[in-house]
Amino acid sequence: MNPPDDAIARGRLDAVLARVERAAKDAGTPVRLVAVSKFQDAKAVAQLAACGQIAFGENYVQEATAKQRELEAAGAPKLEWHLIGPLQSNKAELAARHFDWVQSLDRAKLVPLLAKARPAQAAPLNVLIQVNIDDEASKSGCAPDQVPELAKLIAAHPSLMLRGLMAIPTPLPDPAKRREAFAKMRGLFHSLGCEHSTVDTLSMGMSDDFELAIAEGATMVRVGTALFGARPSKA
Ligand SMILES: *Cc1c(COP(=O)(O)O)cnc(C)c1O
Repeated sequence: MNPPDDAIARGRLDAVLARVERAAKDAGTPVRLVAVSKFQDAKAVAQLAACGQIAFGENYVQEATAKQRELEAAGAPKLEWHLIGPLQSNKAELAARHFDWVQSLDRAKLVPLLAKARPAQAAPLNVLIQVNIDDEASKSGCAPDQVPELAKLIAAHPSLMLRGLMAIPTPLPDPAKRREAFAKMRGLFHSLGCEHSTVDTLSMGMSDDFELAIAEGATMVRVGTALFGARPSKA
């Protein structure tokens, strides 16, 4: 007999958490796990939430809000939502209302849009600046030298809270090369922390490389496949 889906979800979560904790202990930093639920249905999210997972990452604003409505209707506990996909300006208002974190802020134009749309009664929106650390062809992420200016803009808005940096380094086959990108991020993160006391989060590392990222100073990892299994190709 196959184990029920709930038992599979719990087994995967426990296995990933154990790996995260081991790597975090070696690195001497606490690390938070964000479960990346893009293309997974509300039921899969509810299963992990029932095992105690609170933070979920989504790439698409509308997919996320639809899932949130479904979970709320089903009486799921309050979860913490992270936007980790590229953010179009015309989705900034929805993002500011329906997420707790935006990890993919990468240009100045988004800052006043998010700040203005964040509801007054809500806690400040946690913001990470996404940095294009090694892939000049990629359109997501700002250049490393744009970080200080963007950080200043974010920090000037009371409805936003600058928490740190996010990156998706190219998954180079050579671990030493991957490690270089993570190490560059660590350097940028350290400099940013010297300028802004609210900075405490370096989000990097996915299913294939989160242990390497933690060894280079990640404080938050975004894991999908290792938690949910292979993704359906579309929501
Ligand atoms: C999809 C995605 C992840 C998770 O990737 P896995 O390899 O499935 O762990 C993490 N971060 C971002 C930005 C993603 O788009």
